Amino acid sequence: METVLLSSSDADLIKAAELIRSGEIVGIPTETVYGLAADARNPDAVMKIFKAKGRPADNPLIVHIADIIELEQIAHNIPDLAYKIAEKFWPGPLTIVLDKNDVIPDVTSGGLNTVGVRMPSNVIANKLIKLSGCQIAAPSANKSGYPSPTSAEHVINDMNGIIPAVVNGGDSLYGVESTVISFDDDKTIRILRPGFITRSDLLEVTENVIIDDAILHDISPDREAPSPGMKYKHYSPKANVVLVEGTLEEYCRYVNKHAGNNTYALIYDCDVDNMDITCQYETYGSSSREQAHNIFSKLRSLDEKGADNIIVRSPSKEGVGLAVYNRLLRSAGFEVISL
Ligand code: AMP
Ligand code: MG
Repeated sequence: METVLLSSSDADLIKAAELIRSGEIVGIPTETVYGLAADARNPDAVMKIFKAKGRPADNPLIVHIADIIELEQIAHNIPDLAYKIAEKFWPGPLTIVLDKNDVIPDVTSGGLNTVGVRMPSNVIANKLIKLSGCQIAAPSANKSGYPSPTSAEHVINDMNGIIPAVVNGGDSLYGVESTVISFDDDKTIRILRPGFITRSDLLEVTENVIIDDAILHDISPDREAPSPGMKYKHYSPKANVVLVEGTLEEYCRYVNKHAGNNTYALIYDCDVDNMDITCQYETYGSSSREQAHNIFSKLRSLDEKGADNIIVRSPSKEGVGLAVYNRLLRSAGFEVISL
């Protein structure tokens, strides 16, 4: 199969929407990362996503809608708090887990009775949902386990010859996947995956916002994962990633002691002039927002450079930093060096 790179012209979006409507899967831009899109109600189309990615069948897909009216078509028992959150944060990088309706097949929800729903703000994604007339199931458009794609080129790298088309919408605005939340009760939000919508953003809607333990730690074997994605290896380049926490001085000392031939340090832009490291380095931004935007594309480009080891200077765990830290923690297979 030849993978066609489509533009965001109306004519090309009509082609992409037609592919989705006819049961094919297409790479699409969103404001978080690129997604692999299929008609969420079509089990055969959704199966193609799992096959293309090599995704475990029990890891559910997020369903994307273009209008709040669609929410009640795919979910029920929707608490008032969900509406408040949708009003405040949709369209945007936030996924809400709700009880699913039967129109969403088990293959889409990974066998769960719930479905994660999101209304993306990316104009191209929004148009594609409307033009296709479908709710769109879309996980990140990478091979399972590999860093998420934040450009059409990344999608082509992973999916060339496997999917019929990718829509080019430029670099993803945010660069990390959506915040995923569920409800413990009418007043309590549980963050299952951190993203651009932070705990303090959510605290504006309710005073009880729990950060699930599995965001900062490997899921304990005696606990059922509240989000199946927590069980799996994620965001890992071919290179071995180590996350190092400590002062800048301690970080440099660690790097200089442990760096081998194909080792790269991955550091903050703002630290470049104040540090003394003897190995090759790359930077991934200074603010958490920049780091989120760059992290996946940096991990991918270091693989292309043939890095064997990447020693990352740990990001902040505050605000959007928590999303960056969570992705890097998983890239590193929870290998954190605290100095
Ligand atoms: P991705 O498709 O790569 O953006 O990953 C989607 C994430 O959302 C995975 O970690 C899933 O486990 C999680 N997720 C999707 N639907 C649900 C759901 N119904 N309940 C809990 N977590 C979900
Ligand atoms: Mg993913």
